[in-house]
Amino acid sequence: MKVTRRDLLVWSAGAAAGLLVTPVPWKLLDDTSIWSQNWPWIPQPSRTPVEVKQSACTLCPNGCGMKVKVAAGWPVGVSGVSSHPISRGALCPLGFGAHQLNWHPQRLRTVRHGAHPSTWTEARTAFAKACSAGPVVVIDGYPGRAASSLLETFAQKRGGNYRVALGAETRALVPYESWSGVSVAALGYDLENAQTIVSFGATLLDGWGTPGRFTRLWAERAAGNANPELRLIQVESSLSRTAARSWQWVPAHAGTESALAGALARVLLEEHLVSARGPMPPITLAEAANQTGLSANAIRELARTIVAQPPAVAIAIGNNPAIAALNVVLGAVGTRGGIARRSKHTEREKKEKYVAADVAVPAARAVLLDASVPWDFAPQTDAEVFRFAAWDGGSSKADWLLPAPGFLEDLTDVPTAPTSAVETYAVAPSLVKAPPEVQSAAQFLASIDRTLTTPEKIIHARCADFFRGRSGTLRSQEVTPVAQLASVQKLEEELWKGAVWVGEAPPPASLRCELKEWPPVVTAHPETWSRTWSSTWPAPVLPPLATKLYKESTLREAPEKRLA
Ligand code: SF4
Repeated sequence: MKVTRRDLLVWSAGAAAGLLVTPVPWKLLDDTSIWSQNWPWIPQPSRTPVEVKQSACTLCPNGCGMKVKVAAGWPVGVSGVSSHPISRGALCPLGFGAHQLNWHPQRLRTVRHGAHPSTWTEARTAFAKACSAGPVVVIDGYPGRAASSLLETFAQKRGGNYRVALGAETRALVPYESWSGVSVAALGYDLENAQTIVSFGATLLDGWGTPGRFTRLWAERAAGNANPELRLIQVESSLSRTAARSWQWVPAHAGTESALAGALARVLLEEHLVSARGPMPPITLAEAANQTGLSANAIRELARTIVAQPPAVAIAIGNNPAIAALNVVLGAVGTRGGIARRSKHTEREKKEKYVAADVAVPAARAVLLDASVPWDFAPQTDAEVFRFAAWDGGSSKADWLLPAPGFLEDLTDVPTAPTSAVETYAVAPSLVKAPPEVQSAAQFLASIDRTLTTPEKIIHARCADFFRGRSGTLRSQEVTPVAQLASVQKLEEELWKGAVWVGEAPPPASLRCELKEWPPVVTAHPETWSRTWSSTWPAPVLPPLATKLYKESTLREAPEKRLA
């Protein structure tokens, strides 16, 4: 059975929500020590002092705050960091068992060319030869890091292309980028200030965004309350975990989200329930009723309910321009509780306008995939594919498999999580010595082009920028304004110890979207959505703890309910 990231996040959503009301997570914590001994080859240091270091999980772009117990140089356990501004103490099961991953039997330790073992020298020669024969495409799954900057610079210097494998949550923000010119890298959802959230199939309590963020909000402001401060309206054809816990479930037919969004906007405009004026969606209420299976009256009532408790914001599960247009009509773009612009650094944004990785790559001679690109992602190309990975997820079509550093074996920075409304920055230092046979994509490219600035230097330069800017705060157990720090060294020292820099949001007016015409209707079956949703990509391998948690807990949702 393949376990996808969404499955893991579903579990973590259940766990985080259940944290307040059931003893199950505490029981699971008790069992940790038993389960973590599943692999007899994992060293069990005895009579060694255990150090607790605060860091961040780097296994996916959510960058959850993590405490790592280290004994004799090895991580022996992890837990969440309750003071982390976004993840607020939660981890998904993959993160919860991350300390076991470096011992996984499918850990890649040798260079492979097709089915045969090879060497770094041969891989470097083959890559350099392919690069000299034509353009190179470098694909990143975790943009915004210092290493990403190096990957991008290498591709540009070679006349090639830097592309990003965007997650579904980021794809949902693409229409606002097209209409406002502000990069998706600078956009997020101000859920903390929303009073009504209309989710069009986005499984907010089943694995959406950073674990812990929405589940904590929901637990604090909605759970168990008939008239909650935060109303969650779930538009979904089946009774998913999120739908079952929502304030109102709207069982519209699958694939009719655009039609419903258009009809809701029509009611809002016709009845002057919002201050926006046109463009009027072409769909009539009767047509929308016919498509969605809801009555025209139900759609009308739903529109009135959405605006009854403002601010309201709609969330899509992918790139759906009609749902984004509904947000424009609601006045939820660039306003409190809506779509937020989290960065005002226009130069950086300009650089960070991403080209999606799944567009065909026709002319390239080499495609390099960073280890952060989900294992199942296959570029559409005839070029020679060089794939970095720490773990072998099986059935790779890459020509070259290149062993990358594993969990916390490599210094990396942790940029803002997708969907966050505020800019954050953290550093995950290398806590574990990497085996000599592994290299990151950034190290590999830096060994080919020695003029490239290393990620370490880029991280230092970014810290210097934060210090010079004197804005934002450092969050750990305490909150310290950057302006009060005596030196950049002090700032770096705090980041290296696990503090998180949190930026100041620019004024809402800095994000504006204007609609000239209503966008075309997107009709998609949910299976299509789920295939394009990054969290359905299977995790290449699972640590035994996550396997236990996933397979033996009853918190996960039945598969037939998961696919709406
Ligand atoms: S969601 Fe991502 S960053 Fe957070 S614990 Fe899981 S794998 Fe790590």
